[in-house]
Amino acid sequence: MQPIGLLIELKDGHVKETNFGVATAARAENRQLVALVVDAPADDAKAALEAYGVTRIVNIRTGSDGWNPAVHAAAVVAAMQENEITTLIGLTSPTGRELLPRVAARLDAPLIMDCIDIDLDAHRVKTSQYSGKTIATISMTGSHFIYGMRANVVAPLKAPAVAEVIDFAFAADLRGGFEVMETRTDGGGSQYLAESDIIISGGRGLKNAENFKLLFDCARLLNAAVGASRVAVDNGWVPYAMQVGQTGVKVNPKVYLAVGISGSIQHFAGMKTAKTIIAINTDANAAIMANCDYYAVGDLFDILPALEAALGSVKR
Ligand SMILES: Cc1cc2nc3c(=O)[nH]c(=O)nc-3n(C[C@H](O)[C@H](O)[C@H](O)COP(=O)(O)OP(=O)(O)OC[C@H]3O[C@@H](n4cnc5c(N)ncnc54)[C@H](O)[C@@H]3O)c2cc1C
Repeated sequence: MQPIGLLIELKDGHVKETNFGVATAARAENRQLVALVVDAPADDAKAALEAYGVTRIVNIRTGSDGWNPAVHAAAVVAAMQENEITTLIGLTSPTGRELLPRVAARLDAPLIMDCIDIDLDAHRVKTSQYSGKTIATISMTGSHFIYGMRANVVAPLKAPAVAEVIDFAFAADLRGGFEVMETRTDGGGSQYLAESDIIISGGRGLKNAENFKLLFDCARLLNAAVGASRVAVDNGWVPYAMQVGQTGVKVNPKVYLAVGISGSIQHFAGMKTAKTIIAINTDANAAIMANCDYYAVGDLFDILPALEAALGSVKR
């Protein structure tokens, strides 16, 4: 059985839901799914990972003082070697973006991020290019293969299994020239954009930073994340981490609500695969209106408070 490594991410002590889609994409009869969990209590995650076909959980302990991508990447490589893993799949998330390239560099392995389809037998992946205008199919050769999947592209399907839990201590005295001075969360509500089922994004129509509160109020009631167009980011209203689009985060939620956003090609590049797109705009001729599933022509400053009130009454 070919062991496939899954780089598992946890949040608040729980395995992130988006890992289960990755496990589903990686599963096949001739493969063993090996979950690599770095400096997190994997025992808590055992039942969750078993439900999606994981048969081995490697609990990596680095003893490092908090998040350190250099140490963690070295530890992941050591755990891969110990478990004879030559293929590793993670998420194209902030954590994945920090760890996977470092792992690939250490192994001198090819790396493809933001995969939307993976054929692990042929080492062939699909990823979007040129602002989402084309889908590239890339074949790789080498002794090791590292992939970052876009979150939510594969629906998680359960396949119960029984997993052994192995502790793996990585004791190298290595800081990799890297020291974390401080960790700050960077806007976007409590949810990471690319992993959210519902996203509410605001653009130039919001007019200033304060008005984004209207979006956050609705997002709280919907358990949604808040995104933004580049104009909102460039104006300093919200942090870059919230930017959706060609030069921002690429998202694939069930519902994407674009508020005061015109629908430029660069914005679409980041959200056009959303299952349902809803637009709120004063301009019935805005590009987004012709490229969405539902729209409301009207002033967002009238519509958002009404939406919040309606959502609030449903919650009560
Ligand atoms: C190389 C490159 C990369 C780029 N990358 C990105 C990217 O990653 N993401 C991105 O978003 N953009 C990106 N852009 C910028 C992009 O081209 C657009 O300029 C940007 O997306 C426009 O943002 P917007 O829709 O908020 O603003 P606008 O295009 O100005 O649209 C604002 C909309 O708000 C509506 N509106 C105004 N007032 C109200 C109101 N009261 N109620 C309701 N609606 C209202 C208007 O009718 C209008 O449709 C990139 C550009 C380049 C050149």
